[in-house]
Amino acid sequence: MNSQTIVPFVDLIQSNLELKEQLQAVFDEVLTTGIAIGGPFVQRFEKEFAEFCGTKHSVALNSGTDALRFALIAAGITAGDGVLTGPNTFIATGEAITQAGGTCRFIDIDPATSNMSTIALANYLETACEHDSKTGLPIDRATGLRVKAIVPVHLYGQMADMEGILEIAGRYGLFVVEDACQAHGAECLLPKKSEWKTAGSVGRAAAFSFYPAKNLGAMGEGGGLTTDDDAIAAKVRMLRDHGQRQKYFHAFEGYNGRLDAVQTGILSVKLRYLAEWNASRARLAKRYNELLAEVEELALPFEQDWGLGVYHLYVIRTAVRDQLQSHLTAQGIGTGLHYPLPLHLQDAYAHLGYRKGDFPVCEEAASQILSLPMYPQLRDEQQDKVVDAIKEFYATRAAVA
Ligand SMILES: *Cc1c(COP(=O)(O)O)cnc(C)c1O
Repeated sequence: MNSQTIVPFVDLIQSNLELKEQLQAVFDEVLTTGIAIGGPFVQRFEKEFAEFCGTKHSVALNSGTDALRFALIAAGITAGDGVLTGPNTFIATGEAITQAGGTCRFIDIDPATSNMSTIALANYLETACEHDSKTGLPIDRATGLRVKAIVPVHLYGQMADMEGILEIAGRYGLFVVEDACQAHGAECLLPKKSEWKTAGSVGRAAAFSFYPAKNLGAMGEGGGLTTDDDAIAAKVRMLRDHGQRQKYFHAFEGYNGRLDAVQTGILSVKLRYLAEWNASRARLAKRYNELLAEVEELALPFEQDWGLGVYHLYVIRTAVRDQLQSHLTAQGIGTGLHYPLPLHLQDAYAHLGYRKGDFPVCEEAASQILSLPMYPQLRDEQQDKVVDAIKEFYATRAAVA
């Protein structure tokens, strides 16, 4: 067995080294000014990130989880509200819904994209809910929850079918908060408007994560909210700062959810390279698609013609996932599983009463998905090694069979 890493799953060092001087200048500035919380770095990044996403506001926060939690609180989620999301996301999506006071109701996914299925969404609202004459909102028959919001996750860096989701949301009086934590810079065409919209600018609000491994990553924790809604932006600014309207005058209890000057300064530097990095990921994804096209046993990522993905992850599917993953590990190639166990089957959500078989498309995907090395600095010859190792795996299996 070869335990040496030849192609890592992700590389968090190269992009930092390329920008070393600019990044160190941020730290020097904070070191000499002493302005570590709030101040010009935070204000500048918020302005730049809102511009990047095409929204009126962005609010810097200390994680993507907080961004989603604050967005849901500010948009009005309270106890007794059901919030619809996919079961195949990182648990942070579920945690934010619960911590905002809501309860997760899961919707199965589209087998081609792994994003929320609009067919399953419409079906749930039509068949599992009744119409509440008082609020006009759907009531989940099994739990009595009033369904108030949808949180589509732009999984792996591809936007969910926002046209379809917004249409259904409008029909049932629901609001939409995007989980854009994997989708900085992803785009989708909303055909009715014939306009390309950037992730974060489509729902009432959106949450981003700046965790180091994300397409735009800090050198620590970080997150951000985007919205066009003045009231939501104002509320989230207070939520992140103990509900303060003015120092030591608290309109309500909030949180400590601020992002610091060093991280926002670093994010401003990196934001200038994000489009280039995303283009590099897209080129590498296309190259994987071409090189792996002949491997019949694999399903490759499917990209809708109305979307432009930013390939936070490049995820293939195969019936022999575990064997392929072991083979790649033995060859020194890093891989990941996003995510091996759907949320509705996690112990953390046992109390929600879901069972195996409730979301068959998601459950099947969970057993077949494999994330291959993907980062802007991945070199073609490294990618060739990944492809060769995959082809060798299937050739050996065919010879044995
Ligand atoms: C990373 C991620 C989050 C959480 O972001 P943090 O910054 O780690 O809190 C939420 N949702 C999804 C889909 C993510 O990938």
